[in-house]
Formats: sequence, C-alpha cells, structure tokens
Amino acid sequence: MSGRLAEAKRLIVKIGSVLLVDDATGDIRRAWLEALVADLARCRARGQEVLVVSSGAIAVGRRHLGLTGRVLKLEEKQAAAATGQIRLAHAYQEALARHGLTVAQILLTPEDTEARRRHLNARATLEQLLALGAVPVINENDTVATAEIRFGDNDRLAARVAQMISADTLVLLSDIDGLYTADPRRNPGAQHIAEVREITPEIEAMGGAAPAGYSSGGMVTKLAAARIALAAGCRMAIARGNGLHPLEALERGARCTWFLPVAEPRTARKRWIAGTLNPMGVLTVDDGAAAALRRGTSLLPAGVVAVEGSFERGDAVVVRDGEGREVARGLSAYSSADARAIAGHKSGEIEAILGYRGRHEMIHRDDLVVS
Ligand code: GLU
Repeated sequence: MSGRLAEAKRLIVKIGSVLLVDDATGDIRRAWLEALVADLARCRARGQEVLVVSSGAIAVGRRHLGLTGRVLKLEEKQAAAATGQIRLAHAYQEALARHGLTVAQILLTPEDTEARRRHLNARATLEQLLALGAVPVINENDTVATAEIRFGDNDRLAARVAQMISADTLVLLSDIDGLYTADPRRNPGAQHIAEVREITPEIEAMGGAAPAGYSSGGMVTKLAAARIALAAGCRMAIARGNGLHPLEALERGARCTWFLPVAEPRTARKRWIAGTLNPMGVLTVDDGAAAALRRGTSLLPAGVVAVEGSFERGDAVVVRDGEGREVARGLSAYSSADARAIAGHKSGEIEAILGYRGRHEMIHRDDLVVS
C-alpha cells in the first residue's frame, strides 16, 4: 500500500490551510513547509512529476488585514486571499529554491477546469511547466471568484486538476488520517477504512455533513474529490499531514484511506472521449491518414480533406474516411473555421495561415480514440 506513492508518475499533493497556517498567529508554518518540500524534492529526484494544490491564502491574509474572530463576507475573503496569496507564493518559492526547484503559480477558477477552451489552455500551461521541470503551485483564484462561481474548497479543485492533466495519484493532506465509518471525533467506535474502490451511498453517508467555517469542506468535499478522481482513473489518498515529512510518513505506511480507480487515467479519459461526447463536427481524412490513425498516431492537418459542422477548439469530432466510415473520435485542437483553413496543409504552414502557432496536430493522439 505504501508503494503507491513511490509508483506515482504524476503526483498532486493538496495541502489544507489547517496544516500550513498557524491558527493562533496566522503565520505560515515554515518548519512544516520545509519538511514537506524536502519530501517533494525527493519525489522529483526519483523522476516523479509533482504539483501542489495549496490552500491558506485566506487564512494567512485575514490576519494581515485585521479580519479575525468572525466569519468573513465574500469581499473580505477576496481581499484576504489577495494579501495571503503573495505570502504563500513567496514561502513556496523560498522553500523549493533551497532544493533547486522552480515554482510556478497558477490560480484557477472552476471555469478554467470546466469550460473546454479554457480547460485546454490551463492544461497546456501545466503540461508545459511540468515539461520545463517547474513545480506548479495551484490555488483557486479566490480574489476574482464570486460565490456562484467558486469551488470554495481545494479538495475538488485538486481533483479537477488531476482529471485535467491525467495525474495518476492525488494525496489530500489533512488533519485526519482518512475516512471513518462515522466522525471519530464524536464517535469513539468509528472504524477506519483503509481502501475504497467505489463511492457507494454507504461511503457517502460516512462523510457526514460539511462543517461550518470559511475554507475546508471536511469529509464531504473529500468524498466529492474522490468521486472526480476515480472517474478520471486517478487514485487518491486522504492522509494526515500534521507531522513533519507527511509524504515520507505515508510511504513508510502511515495510516490513510486509498481510493482506487478501476481504470488508468489514460484509459478513463479515452473512455470518456469515446463514449460520452456529443460530436460537433466531422473531419474526413484521406486513406493515408486513416491508416496512420489506426496505427495509433495523431491526426495532422495534412491528412484532412473536408471539415463539416461548427465547433470550437476542444470540441469532440468524428473522423471519417473517404467512404464515410467512422475511423476515430477525438477532441479537435482547432475550431471548425481554423480547421477548414489548415486542412490539407503541412503543420509547418499553420502559423502563416492562421497567424498564430497552434498545435502541430489537428487531434493529438492523447485526445483520440480509434473507433
Ligand atoms: N482557496 C482557499 C485559500 O487558499 C482555501 C480553500 C480550501 O481550504 O479548501 O485560502
């Protein structure tokens, strides 16, 4: 069980405010952060990609603005986040730099993970940062997110990020070592659950109700995150992070709850592409491209002979051969208008035709499922 963390290729670690921020002073717990970052650096040193989803902006910022001792209004939270986020970013930068690691800050809203076009943009940026060896530190963009368009909790945000970039492992570090049959703080007979493979109504009921407060969503949002992660083929752990070196502790077998998916992230994503999408257009390809797709390559603009329908970048399309047979389905990297303009052209000509340098592929093979 402890091997699961070591096996991760693309790991997301979510850090709750309660771990990172001293409740009494509102200061960042530097010693804790340094120990955590040492754990992250170790993961990086053995070749794992690492992303952090960190809470704490509001908890840190409210002290500096004198907003204490009461529940904050939305605009006060936004102001607190604006102040606290800088301090958070600074702390991560300092801590990671000690290990020679570059930090990159990403602030997301739910729209960035859900609206297709923005989803692709956010994903491309994260992929680029990982390729460049940076450690993305992600939080919700609390300062611009209003109540209606807010995640409000970083558990679900972390799971959405996992889904977006096909991460294989998500660890939610919290002040509890996993899921119990009932709230262990109130019910001493509550039993710890070590492994969950499906979020059944019984499991859901164990989460109880959301606690009052301004940030953490408690077990309810962790189970919501688990549902998103499992559907995306990402395994997820709820683990206690209070002590120093929480990831090392997890590897050494500290108690936690693992949520285990049936499929791998790529398989889950491909199933989603193949099954649940409503295609918005048709790309007809020549025989060479059809044969190449069946061998598992990406679809290049050069092989496309006709474009039907009206679609945006990121929409699902069907790929057909010259006889109208379905060859594949996938997510188009170009809108229908741009696809028409570059159809039949070499990828090297894309920039001259469209005026911007888009992807080489019309549909990347990661976004494509052969029918
Ligand atoms: N985004 C919030 C913050 O940084 C925290 C949300 C959460 O605690 O899950 O303060």
